[in-house]
Amino acid sequence: MLSYRHSFHAGNHADVLKHLVLTLILETLKQKEKGFFYLDTHSGVGRYSLSSAEAEKTGEYVEGIARLWDRCDLPEEVALYVQEIKKINRGKLRYYAGSPLLAVNQLRPQDRALLTELHPADYPLLRQEFAKIQNVTTKRENGFQQLKSALPPKEKRGLVLIDPPYELKEDYELVVKAIIEGYKRFATGIYAIWYPVVLRQHTKRIIRGLQETGIRKILQIELSVRPDSDQRGMTASGMIVINPPWQLEAQMKKVLPYLTSVLTPEKTGSWTVEWITPE
Ligand code: SAM
Repeated sequence: MLSYRHSFHAGNHADVLKHLVLTLILETLKQKEKGFFYLDTHSGVGRYSLSSAEAEKTGEYVEGIARLWDRCDLPEEVALYVQEIKKINRGKLRYYAGSPLLAVNQLRPQDRALLTELHPADYPLLRQEFAKIQNVTTKRENGFQQLKSALPPKEKRGLVLIDPPYELKEDYELVVKAIIEGYKRFATGIYAIWYPVVLRQHTKRIIRGLQETGIRKILQIELSVRPDSDQRGMTASGMIVINPPWQLEAQMKKVLPYLTSVLTPEKTGSWTVEWITPE
């Protein structure tokens, strides 16, 4: 079953958090001259029109990227991310860059990316978006499998973004299994896992599963726009980062109070940055 389409959600508060963290990790990887590998297991299409029927139907970006677009007081870390979205727009907010486009736009010639996506309608759009870029490969393959088949990378440094739709509850277990496989092959890699908070007990399954792996250095970053609820709907989202760059914890503690207040002007939001397992 592949019914999830990211075009309904592009640029929402969860994308803002995810793509801010992604931008900051890539920025740190670029501090060394040596090339790195970027693996995006669940890529989506790359570029989203915010005037599409899907985006207009939900209007989710209005409470996400649109709230940052015109701000003059962005902390420098947030400004870096917003700048990446501005690069694909001419003045007015019309398009949103999904994780593969955001990442590929930040790669240098010595870096390399592998982008996978399974959806029969989304994959051709992804392939077309990156067809002419030399150091980028797209594949219509199962993203979870790539942690076995594409790791370790020859560059011996890199970032794996795992961003499943969680429309199937088994995704919560598959994420942990994929991490075990990836970590066996590439223990020094950075792994960033996105998760939604729809029902808190599902999120706890990932956390418990990761704790049981015995892997160290796992940081959890979360932004809630509303308190937890057992009604339908996403109240929060987070990023779990294994082997985070040393700056990331402080960067997120610095910007999350700002981000939370701008994304939830009605003051219903909150944030956390904590270690699931420290070093
Ligand atoms: N990472 C994208 C971004 O940040 O812009 C959004 C990805 S969206 C949350 C999840 C995507 O995973 C969907 O496009 C869906 O079609 C795709 N998908 C679902 N199961 C998959 C699988 N097993 N392997 C690869 N892609 C999958």
